[in-house]
Amino acid sequence: ENLSKSYYKDGGFLKKEKTEILNGIQFFIKKGECLGLIGESGSGKSTLSRMILGLEKPTKGEVKIEGVSVSKWMKNNKGKMSVVFQDYTSSVNPHFTIRNIIAEPLAAWGDSKNLDERINVLLAKVGLPHAVIHKYPHELSGGQLQRVCIARAISTEPEFIVLDEAISSLDVSVQAQILELLRSLQNEMNMTYLFVAHDLQAVANLCDCILFLYRGKIVDRRETIDGYHVRSRSFIFS
Ligand code: ATP
Ligand code: MG
Repeated sequence: ENLSKSYYKDGGFLKKEKTEILNGIQFFIKKGECLGLIGESGSGKSTLSRMILGLEKPTKGEVKIEGVSVSKWMKNNKGKMSVVFQDYTSSVNPHFTIRNIIAEPLAAWGDSKNLDERINVLLAKVGLPHAVIHKYPHELSGGQLQRVCIARAISTEPEFIVLDEAISSLDVSVQAQILELLRSLQNEMNMTYLFVAHDLQAVANLCDCILFLYRGKIVDRRETIDGYHVRSRSFIFS
């Protein structure tokens, strides 16, 4: 609701001049929907994603989930919101085995019942062989490692996943495989996605609806049918 975000130009040292990154962002995501967010580099997509995840506070406005503030919702719904980042190598601990990486959120929420059995189910879900369980991140390809990050993200059976450029660092054929995986997981687990990307084709392929972020504002919202964006709801350039 009406989200704005500004940063101090000097990083807050003298707290003099601010730059406005996002200005009056307002939109909703329906339960079970896959909403795409597209915008040029530096347009504020990751900043917006972090605010939606409750990692960063908006300067103005509020993020609400099911009618309550995101921080309150998170307290009452542990593990129900996950994130997959673009940079899969730095989002995993290089000294952890794949088993321990996937187990991180479950361990954090103190839910370690039948852990190995559940990890095997998760590996199968994301299309990885059981044999990777004792491997380390550097022994896997980029596509395999991003599958591990997706397995970690779905381990707590979240209702909502934010995917911030989750396929952008992968080559085109691996991107297609990961998109297919995300689509099948969404159908199977009835999750809600916010899918952030640069690439309109990938977004149109996966998402029901696409938001266009430009110079800190949502300038368009389009619905997609069978992988094509079809209808422009509004177009406000200012
Ligand atoms: P990309 O497509 O390259 O990932 P993006 O759309 O995700 O870009 P953001 O990372 O949200 O863009 O950054 C938007 C702007 O906000 C950039 O100009 C960036 O420098 C600035 N910015 C982001 N985080 C901070 C911060 N913590 N302090 C100061 N400025 C920031
Ligand atoms: Mg970004």
